[in-house]
Amino acid sequence: MLSKKLQDALNQQINHELYSSYLYLAMSAHFEAANLPGFARWMKIQSEEEGEHGMKFYQFINDRSGRVALEAIAKPPVEYKTPLDVMKKVLEHEKKVTGTIEALYELSLKEKDYPTQVMLHWFIKEQVEEEKNASNIIEMLKTIGDAPAGLAMLDSRVGARAKG
Ligand code: MG
Repeated sequence: MLSKKLQDALNQQINHELYSSYLYLAMSAHFEAANLPGFARWMKIQSEEEGEHGMKFYQFINDRSGRVALEAIAKPPVEYKTPLDVMKKVLEHEKKVTGTIEALYELSLKEKDYPTQVMLHWFIKEQVEEEKNASNIIEMLKTIGDAPAGLAMLDSRVGARAKG
């Protein structure tokens, strides 16, 4: 049985993941409007993955006979600047999410909840990937600078991202 404290924290994590999904969907819409279909596709896939992350926590709470409590999802920003600026925001956001996952892990250690610890291993590894992916795109955008041809090439490259 999940402790009340852990259940509350897991419910809050559902909200963090669903906000991430919402944020990346807003960024996808921004890239659609900015005529960068590759970046738009990358963000849409990212958004879908975050929704799946939220569902992993949802399922886990149910599997442990806990009670899911959904909270309101905050409104993401509508306006964004350059692709570099957007990707920096993604990295910054993912670092925050890493912090929330680590805090959850700390709590599961304190509560001696072993199933939660095992479940969180997947997320700890996933966050390494998330931060790496955003950092890689940031590095490529920095290399390109203001060159439009470079940006067009990178757009098709990030747009080739596979689902899942
Ligand atoms: Mg996530």
